[in-house]
Amino acid sequence: MTTFNSYSELRTALSSGKTTCREVVDFHLEQIEKKNQELNAFLEVYADEARKQAEEIDQKVKDGTAGKLAGLVVGIKDVLAYKDHPSSAGSQILKGYNSPFTATAVQRLIDEDAIIIGRQNCDEFAMGSSNENSSYGPAKNGINPNLVPGGSSGGSAVAVQMDMCRVSLGTDTGGSVRQPASFCGIYGIKPSYSRVSRYGLIAYGSSFDCIGVFSKNVYDMALTLETMAGKDPKDATSSSTEVPSYSNFGSNSEKKVVGVLKETLEMEGVDPEVVESTKSFISLLEKNGYQIKEIHTPYLHKALPVYYILTTAEASTNLSRFDGVRYGYRVEDPENLQDMYERSRTEGFGEEVKRRIMLGTFVLSASYYDAYFTKAQRVRRLIREDIKKKFEEVDFILNPTTPSPAFGIGEKKKNILDLYLTDIFTVQAPIGGFPAISIPYGNNKEGLPLGIHIMADAFKEKELLDFTKNIEDISGRS
Ligand code: GLN
Repeated sequence: MTTFNSYSELRTALSSGKTTCREVVDFHLEQIEKKNQELNAFLEVYADEARKQAEEIDQKVKDGTAGKLAGLVVGIKDVLAYKDHPSSAGSQILKGYNSPFTATAVQRLIDEDAIIIGRQNCDEFAMGSSNENSSYGPAKNGINPNLVPGGSSGGSAVAVQMDMCRVSLGTDTGGSVRQPASFCGIYGIKPSYSRVSRYGLIAYGSSFDCIGVFSKNVYDMALTLETMAGKDPKDATSSSTEVPSYSNFGSNSEKKVVGVLKETLEMEGVDPEVVESTKSFISLLEKNGYQIKEIHTPYLHKALPVYYILTTAEASTNLSRFDGVRYGYRVEDPENLQDMYERSRTEGFGEEVKRRIMLGTFVLSASYYDAYFTKAQRVRRLIREDIKKKFEEVDFILNPTTPSPAFGIGEKKKNILDLYLTDIFTVQAPIGGFPAISIPYGNNKEGLPLGIHIMADAFKEKELLDFTKNIEDISGRS
């Protein structure tokens, strides 16, 4: 089978009988067969099911009744519920847990005849920036398996990078779609908070969590996102704001104003090649008629502590449900109820998850609540308002996605703060609930991919995707 640049090409080939869904599924299964053992991107592959579904959908294509995603092969991060399939959140505590229902985002894709090919490796409970916190071993970057793919949705990024599936669903709380997209040289989008239902997503930080998409081209991303997005009665926080057709790209005649967040290019510790590549992207925009505006923020260094205080607080609450009683792992022969709780949680959770539960419990404790939690909430509001104000002057805010390209496996294990710092440019968007995308652009001298991060005002996914499509066209990637 030849590979298709975008789903629209694939769809044309399906309609004209040049290929079949079965062939498409077999192609991806072959890539998985060749690469997954080394890269550990998929924790489980639903090969037989996917083949069977493909054959059923092939019949629908013949009958003219196929949904709009017929033959779109999708991988899902191991934090998304899929009925009668395991979801473990990369954790031992959920080992053996089978989901009794399907996440709305996943269901909406299935309803349009997308094919779910397997569940993907990730950091335990989506906590991490390198996929090294998975209790099923790290996922590895397809460009060089000694490097991390980024995290926490590392497996999902690698799967798309290496053609093991066409698109992946990841989740992004502080950067977990955008950062691995950048490290793997693909596109990754985090929509606005509440744009996509969180029903069936195993919660980490509920006021931050978003389901996002990885793809190799903008069309596939737009099509997938527009299918998942929109109000869901099963998630009261999901937005009823209308979902435009993202994949029906708008005209690019009106050139937008792009604000460059200057501090991100001048900050100590940012790799000079990252700065250089970002500047080259800015020149590309200028050459193509975009107006560039320098913008500043006093809050860059406040965002990370705010993020880690609030998400750990939310995580400590969300993860209290894993108590050995209702789901997953329970120790054998506990002495009493307290012992059962304690040992089930101690043995079931990994080190990083326990660290965050403890930190979160601390910031929520009566004596420290105001000093940390309340204060962080206030600063969250300030950061959001600062960004909101910028959107009165500019359409988009641009910075590098990450301060450096992919780093070595084990390299940042010694100092956990080093790892937290890799999120410095991605946490602003979820703090404010804004949509943001990582666009693959350029490589460093060693050939490692770099990414450009573009953030838009809330619910401006359409504008963000139109812009990205235009970049794809002018940089000749499409
Ligand atoms: N790296 C960040 C964290 O560990 C982001 C994770 C995420 O977006 N799920 O919290």
